Amino acid sequence: MAFKYIKEGILEVLFPRVCSVCGLHLSDNEHFVCMQCLNHKFEEAYRPGKSNSGDVILPESISIQHALWNFDKGGYLQELLHQLKYHRLTGVGEDIGRQLGKSLLQNPAFIKSIERKKVRLVPVPLHPRKRRMRGYNQAFYIAKGVAEVTNLKILPKDAVVRNRNTKTQTGFSLEKRRKNIQGAFTVSDPEVVKETVCVIIDDVFTTGATTFELSRVLKKAGSLDLLIATVAQA
Ligand SMILES: [Zn+2]
Repeated sequence: MAFKYIKEGILEVLFPRVCSVCGLHLSDNEHFVCMQCLNHKFEEAYRPGKSNSGDVILPESISIQHALWNFDKGGYLQELLHQLKYHRLTGVGEDIGRQLGKSLLQNPAFIKSIERKKVRLVPVPLHPRKRRMRGYNQAFYIAKGVAEVTNLKILPKDAVVRNRNTKTQTGFSLEKRRKNIQGAFTVSDPEVVKETVCVIIDDVFTTGATTFELSRVLKKAGSLDLLIATVAQA
């Protein structure tokens, strides 16, 4: 026991654990981002009483689009999401996923939609080549954090796959984005989707082209209802 504390003490001196956002020391119960940053650094996107975080018109099959924070171009959140995407900081994903989970539980419309239903969290899949290049799917780690807080299950990996590696959509018009993503997803195991409420999980919600296409495919495979939950809303 004593050895464990000594070892932890030495590690803390050699590699101090600091917050990925503010750089201050993390306490024992904090993981990668400190509570101060998680609670106060970013602008909340979800406002109680609204089923939608922004002004986007949702397709009929989607009942809720919930975002945790407003995207801050050039700000802390963009930097944090960038770290999550490109620097293998999977722990950051779980931290913000837990925060997203807490925010979802405060949304009465969300609670109502999942009540007494079989619910599955669906991280937006990456194309296998992209996943190999990046080493992991950041949406999966966000979903892991959400699952921890909400006790909801994640849809089995590879039940939904991305079979087309789409070009980066930045700078595309909405119409072009829709065309670009069409047919990119396939449900390889419809049994696990049937009669479920699917909560699609992603990092940023922009035009919805990606999440709308994924929900269309899930709906076709038998999902009863579709909800979208993202960390940021652009
Ligand atoms: Zn911090």
